[in-house]
Amino acid sequence: MILDAATVPDGTELRADICIVGGGAAGLALADALIKAARHLDIILLEAGGLRFDAAAQAGLVGETAPGSPHPPPHLYRRRGLGGATAIWGGRCVPLDPIDLERRPWVPHSGWPIGWDALASHYPAAMALCEAGSCEFDAGRALGEGAPPSIAGFVDPDVVATRLERFSRPTDFGRSLRASLAEAPRLRVICGAEALRLEAATRPVTGLQVAGPPGRRFTVRARHYVLATGGLEVPRLLLASDPSRRGGLGNEGGALGRYYMCHAEATLGRLRLLPADRPVALDFETTPDGIYVRRKFDLAAAALRREGLLSTTFRLHYPLIADPAHGIGILSAMYLVKDVILPEYRRKLATIEQAGRDRLQRGPGFWLGHAGNVVRDGMGVARFGQRWLRRRTFASRKLPYVVVRSRDGSYPLDVNAEQIPDPANRVSLGAATDRHGIPQLRVDWRLLPQDRDSLLRSMAVVRDAFARSGTGRLDYEVEALQAIVAAATPVGGHHIGTARMSATPADGVVDANCTVHGVPNLHIAGAAVFPTCGHANPTLTIVALALRLAGHLATLCEAGVATQAKDGATTPRSVAVAAR
Ligand SMILES: Cc1cc2nc3c(=O)[nH]c(=O)nc-3n(C[C@H](O)[C@H](O)[C@H](O)COP(=O)(O)OP(=O)(O)OC[C@H]3O[C@@H](n4cnc5c(N)ncnc54)[C@H](O)[C@@H]3O)c2cc1C
Repeated sequence: MILDAATVPDGTELRADICIVGGGAAGLALADALIKAARHLDIILLEAGGLRFDAAAQAGLVGETAPGSPHPPPHLYRRRGLGGATAIWGGRCVPLDPIDLERRPWVPHSGWPIGWDALASHYPAAMALCEAGSCEFDAGRALGEGAPPSIAGFVDPDVVATRLERFSRPTDFGRSLRASLAEAPRLRVICGAEALRLEAATRPVTGLQVAGPPGRRFTVRARHYVLATGGLEVPRLLLASDPSRRGGLGNEGGALGRYYMCHAEATLGRLRLLPADRPVALDFETTPDGIYVRRKFDLAAAALRREGLLSTTFRLHYPLIADPAHGIGILSAMYLVKDVILPEYRRKLATIEQAGRDRLQRGPGFWLGHAGNVVRDGMGVARFGQRWLRRRTFASRKLPYVVVRSRDGSYPLDVNAEQIPDPANRVSLGAATDRHGIPQLRVDWRLLPQDRDSLLRSMAVVRDAFARSGTGRLDYEVEALQAIVAAATPVGGHHIGTARMSATPADGVVDANCTVHGVPNLHIAGAAVFPTCGHANPTLTIVALALRLAGHLATLCEAGVATQAKDGATTPRSVAVAAR
């Protein structure tokens, strides 16, 4: 059932087998798997937000950014509400590659304590929850053998792996799973319930303090607790829960809140196809099962090893949207209406604009240039507007974003890259507190020289590959590229690594099963546990790991039940629940 915290009386103690904190992709995928695989378990899921956007709940995410850090303010790119950030995500589904989990000598602090198979076996079910179709990322196999090549004649498997990215509807987990969660007999989803502190004076955790509507507090006592609160709130809750224990629960090795990664994002260079009309699969394609996919170029594992590079992907992009010199009506129209889109997406356009700011003069000619582009291409803009309404605004499976074919066969590259996990990139508690007296977040994120160097060298590797193939010329001025890379921004919605998985407590916060080292009934679901981030958008892997954790928790609970039956123990199990 789905309840509101307003129905839970002040001072109540709720009991359950498992308490999940957070109703985003991680928490809801976990709950969904548990209600199907372990029907006898009593589960409580606490969600700080409600079924609809609530500005007061969202205000609880306010925090500060360290001076000089290009990280966005912490209340942006996150959502409080059932579904979490899937209410606003883009839906791009990309798995990690096997090499991303390896210990790579050229990537400090790399190496997951689990192998690729442990993760990959959960990707198909994660794809199903994301409604992104099959787990097939090869264009030929996904689209059929008749599928055109990505760029005709450009094949260099030792350097570049041409793959697909697949797109979710984008599925809002708070909507897609709501009915099944509401019907599950032993699950209580409590909205408007904000977890404040874990009670863990002794291990294991004995309770969780929760705030409901103003003035209302209650406690949850469960056999197992799972934090699925997102990569920024997980360390906040752990840090706030036990300040006396070396800076927070699970912080024996000092890793809690550190090694924070977001992915580096930049628009770089200009690929000129040779000849300009060389066939290129630029636009979205649709798989036989109706999923939008798009081509991308990853640096191949062999190239990463040979050159000592970080995992990086490239997509053909459109020209600097703010510059009317592109002469493309659709882009000018987008630029003119950009103020009405979500702040998170507007910020991305503004960041790209920033990169070209020096050469843009914003006089009357600038605006006339954009208006002229729209007028000259009036029919094209009108057709695009119609198509956008049909395939995006009113469609249940939405066209992911705008792709515009260039007039001269040249395309800037949209680049997303892995970032080195660095202990100085960190999330900590600030001086200010929220309405419940919990310290707000302080976020410090920067790129390291090695991150920037990898981006620059990756561009050179791709430039050389195109030159060898004769299919295109990747142009850039090294100094200009360095300046753009120096100003590269984080991908705003990717919050990774703040409670990393490790084989020993000295190196991380959770073990290979996502259980906090030394706290056997406390577990973490979400990107906080990724030790490294690859270049892939995180949600597919978040969901895959949540499904894996569901299996582990079901096994733990079974084992616990068996022990109780044998010992006649009276550990709280599925006993009375006041709010039912
Ligand atoms: C604009 C945007 C575009 C994106 N595009 C993509 C994309 O294309 N592909 C991709 O893979 N990823 C994308 N992402 C990232 C993706 O949305 C996240 O990776 C994913 O939603 C994270 O899920 P989560 O459950 O771990 O965390 P969240 O979505 O943050 O969910 C955490 C939940 O926990 C709740 N919570 C937090 N603290 C507490 C507390 N103390 N008590 C109770 N509840 C609490 C929150 O209210 C929230 O509902 C995008 C993100 C944004 C913002």
